[in-house]
Amino acid sequence: MKRRISRKISGRLYSQALKVLVGGVNSPVRAFKAVGGDPLFIEKGSGSHIVDEDRNSYVDYCLSWGALILGHAYPSVVRAVSQAAGRGMSFGAPTENETLFAQALTRAVPSMEKVRLVNSGTEATMSAIRLARGFTGKDKIVKFEGCYHGHSDSLLVKAGSGAATFGVPDSHGVPRGVSRDTIVCAYNDIDSVSRIVRSKHKEIAAVIVEPVAANMGVILPDPGFLAALRELTHKYGILLIFDEVICGFRFTFGGVQSLFGITPDLTCLGKIIGGGMPIAAYGGRRDIMDHLSPLGGVYQAGTLSGNPIAVAAGLAALKALKLKNYIALNTMATELCRVMEDLLKRHKLPCTVNRAGSMFTVFFTGKRVSDYRSAKTSDARAYARYFRSMLDQGIYMAPSQFEANFLSFSHTDLDFKKTIMAFSRAVKRP
Ligand code: PMP
Repeated sequence: MKRRISRKISGRLYSQALKVLVGGVNSPVRAFKAVGGDPLFIEKGSGSHIVDEDRNSYVDYCLSWGALILGHAYPSVVRAVSQAAGRGMSFGAPTENETLFAQALTRAVPSMEKVRLVNSGTEATMSAIRLARGFTGKDKIVKFEGCYHGHSDSLLVKAGSGAATFGVPDSHGVPRGVSRDTIVCAYNDIDSVSRIVRSKHKEIAAVIVEPVAANMGVILPDPGFLAALRELTHKYGILLIFDEVICGFRFTFGGVQSLFGITPDLTCLGKIIGGGMPIAAYGGRRDIMDHLSPLGGVYQAGTLSGNPIAVAAGLAALKALKLKNYIALNTMATELCRVMEDLLKRHKLPCTVNRAGSMFTVFFTGKRVSDYRSAKTSDARAYARYFRSMLDQGIYMAPSQFEANFLSFSHTDLDFKKTIMAFSRAVKRP
C-alpha cells in the first residue's frame, strides 16, 4: 500500500530558499538534482530518524554524510555542546580540551604522532597536500579518479561525490596551472600508479587516497592495492596520505589503516570525530608535522580552528564510541546487504551491492564495481526511481549514486525490517 505523503511545507521552504541560496542549498548534492523532486527540509532528528517540516519521519541512512555514527542528537554529545556553549563560543586562544582531543586522536590513530585541528575535511586534505609539498619540495600529487577529497583546487580534478553527480569532476574555475600538478590514476589499478611514479617521482610530493572509497559509491580496495601504494611511495620518497574523513572511526575505533595494517605518512580525519559539529584534523609523522607554522615554514591557520564547542562534541563522541560494539554494527550492515542482494536476485535485477563495514551502495549494474569507470555503468535512472520509492516509504538513502549509505549505532531491528520491506517494493519490476 502506498502512503500518501505531503511535502507541501518542504516545497514552500525550498521556493523561498531558491531566491536567496544558490540552488536553494549550501552544498550541491542536497538539492536532489540527481534523483529528481525537491529536497526535504529537515525539522529535527533523533537516533536513526529524521523528521521533515511536514512531520514525515524517515529512517536515515545519510546521517549527515556519515558523520553521525552515533545517530542524531546523541544525548552525551548534546549535553557536551550545551555545556561548552555556556562557557563561551570561541576564544582564538588555546584550551585544554584541544590537547585532550588531540591526545584521544593520536592514541586511536598511532600513525598520527601530531595533529592540527581544522574546520572541515576540505581544509584537512588541502592543508595535508600543502604540507606534503612543503616537506618534499615537490609540486605534483597523485589522486584517484572518483575519489573526493573536498573542494580545494588541487583536488577537484576527476573528483567523485557531488562533482561526479553533477558531471563536473573537473570544476570550472580551477586554474590550469593547478590542475596540471594533479595526476589522476584509476582506483585499484596499481600498474597505472607504478608507471607514473617510476617516471615522475622526482616531481611527486604525495599520493592521496581514500583507503576505502566512498565517493563514487562504496568501493573496496582490491587485496594488496594499498600495500602496493605504500611500497611504491616509500621506495620513491613520496608521501602517502590516507583520507580517512569518511573511514576514520567508521569501521573500528580509530583509522581503517589499522585494519589494513598500513601506516600512511599523513592522515586526514573529519565527520565522525566531530559528532556532527564542524571539525576535522590532519596529522602524521612528527618530522613532517613540525614543518607547519609556527615551527616550520608551511603556513596554515584558522580563526575557529579547535573551536571549543566542536572540540567538546568531538570528545564526547569519541568517549561514547570507545564503548560501542563495531562488530555488531558491521554485522547488521552485512545482514542488511545480504537480504538486499537476495531480493535483487529474486527479481533478476542486474545489481551490485558493495559494502564495507557499516556503509554500502546499491549499483544498478551487473558489473563488478571496482573503480569509477565501472561505477558509472550503473543506471542513473534506475537509481533515481529506487531512491524516490524508498523516500516515499520513509527511508532516506543517499540522494546520489556516487555516495555511500551509512548505518549508525542507533539503528534498530525495527528500522532494519522497515528498510527491507521498503526495499523489496522499491526493486520490484513495475
Ligand atoms: N574527504 C572525503 C573522503 C570526504 O568524503 C569528504 C566529504 N564528503 C571530504 C574529504 C571533504 O569534507 P568536507 O565536506 O567536510 O569539507
